[in-house]
Amino acid sequence: MSLPLIDQITTSLSRLIDVLDPVAIESVPINDCAGQVLAEPLLADRDSPPMDVSAMDGFAIRLADVQGEPLKIIGTAAAGSSPIELHPRTAIRIFTGGPVPSAAEAVVRSEDTDIQSDHVSIRVQPTELRFGQNIRRRGENTRTGHELLGKGTLLSAVAMSAVATFGASQVSVYSRVRVSILNTGDELVPPGQPAEPWQIRDSNGLVLETMLRKETWIEVINRQSVGDQLPTLVSALNAQLAVSDTVLLTGGVSMGDYDYVPEAILQCGGRIVFHKLPIRPGRPILGAIGPKGQLIVGLPGNPVSVAITAHRYAMALMKKRGGVTQERHLPFTIEIKNPDAKLLDLIRYRLVKLDNHGQGELIDSRGSGDLVSLALSDGFIEVPAGQHGAGPWKYYSW
Ligand code: AMP
Ligand code: MG
Repeated sequence: MSLPLIDQITTSLSRLIDVLDPVAIESVPINDCAGQVLAEPLLADRDSPPMDVSAMDGFAIRLADVQGEPLKIIGTAAAGSSPIELHPRTAIRIFTGGPVPSAAEAVVRSEDTDIQSDHVSIRVQPTELRFGQNIRRRGENTRTGHELLGKGTLLSAVAMSAVATFGASQVSVYSRVRVSILNTGDELVPPGQPAEPWQIRDSNGLVLETMLRKETWIEVINRQSVGDQLPTLVSALNAQLAVSDTVLLTGGVSMGDYDYVPEAILQCGGRIVFHKLPIRPGRPILGAIGPKGQLIVGLPGNPVSVAITAHRYAMALMKKRGGVTQERHLPFTIEIKNPDAKLLDLIRYRLVKLDNHGQGELIDSRGSGDLVSLALSDGFIEVPAGQHGAGPWKYYSW
């Protein structure tokens, strides 16, 4: 029995992912590492909080002192001040983040106190005060030596809170994946240029570049278009393989007379690991490995196919090169409010627009060349072979 199509795809991708190595590791100053990928786990170098600190503005006291005469205020513990000692029948004025004196048993909120010059009276009953109240205990967030972020974590804005709090001055990260984009086609003219009716402006190049620039662990080092002549393509590909970790090509990957991408990859010393996936659009996609372990992806030419296969497949392959192991934007599922009955024996991707309630609307599309529908879409759904209807379907957002 043959494998379900989605498993066939996973198998094809895995065969390439398994032979791809992550790029080199570098040591980067802590202020410059954001957006890169951790090459080593990040461990806590001390407890957090590093000592008992106050969670409130108020007074640090002993529980036994709550009843009776007002307490003499003998000092102030603000965040950043070094700890002071608390004596019996006294109180220390404390602010959020301030060091809690070792003898203190609770912090009473300012709202529950009355201050008369250098004395404070506590307005809560002793029974309402708990041992440790309003105190953030040393190590309650994490303990020294604990692994906070795993190898392969993308250093997002929020991950940087841990890097800043616990990191050393230098952070070990993977270098950014250097990606080149090669758009093939004799019909292409650069965006912004006049075009004859038999020519088209290269939109795939800018789509890919924009998609990749959002990925902070990728560096787009080159984007160019090349004509449909094998020698020209071979020399352009060779030149880019010499300076890149990954080369993404568009067009020229089907079986037409001008589809030189597979042959060019072979002539550059590459090995094709898969060619064609059971998907529409995007079926001709090709995955290969270059002579120095470079990832080479031959994407189709049609704009809708390029955007979908780049997002859905090329990105997963590039993540292996980038050392990214953390799944960030896992697809979620959405339902479609205007389903149709189109059936296909391939996995089908369909452009959708999302409404405010998270429901999807299929965009009327003229097919994989319809870049107008592409430009209007919010993302796409993945419909398994032989299925149709409202879903729920996996949704991928641009
Ligand atoms: P190909 O796979 O090379 O035959 O390309 C299929 C179709 O995709 C072409 O006929 C073009 O209409 C379109 N196409 C190819 N490359 C681009 C590009 N860079 N930008 C926009 N459309 C393209
Ligand atoms: Mg072409």
